[in-house]
Amino acid sequence: MPALNKVKKKVKNLKISGISPPEKVCDDPNCPWHGTLRVRGVIFEGIIEKFRAHRTAIVRYDYIYYAKKYKRYEKRSRKVHAHVPPCINVKDGDVVVVGETRPISKTVKFVVLGVKREASS
Ligand SMILES: [Zn+2]
Repeated sequence: MPALNKVKKKVKNLKISGISPPEKVCDDPNCPWHGTLRVRGVIFEGIIEKFRAHRTAIVRYDYIYYAKKYKRYEKRSRKVHAHVPPCINVKDGDVVVVGETRPISKTVKFVVLGVKREASS
C-alpha cells in the first residue's frame, strides 16, 4: 500500500490580504484552498449568523445606504448562504471573509475564505 496520506496536498495561494491559508488540510473539492473551486467576483467581510447546516453557514453583511429622500444614512443588511470547507473552523458570531464563486447549490454562491476575528464571548 502506498502511503497516500503522506503526499502533501498543494495549498493554493489566493492572494487575499488579511487572511492566510488554513492550518488544516481537507479533501473537499469545493474548498478554495485545497479543492478546485475558484473565487471570482466580490470579496467582503460578514458575520456568521447561523452555522447549523452541513458545510453551509448564513453570513450577514451590513452596509450603509444613503436614503436620498431623507438625506440620511440608514443601516441595511443582507444575508447570504456561504459554503464552509471542513478545514476552516467557524462558529456563530465570527467575522469571516467571504468570496463569490460559482453556484455550489441552488442558494449557495459564496464561500468562506477564512476567519478574520473570532466571536467575543
Ligand atoms: Zn480546505
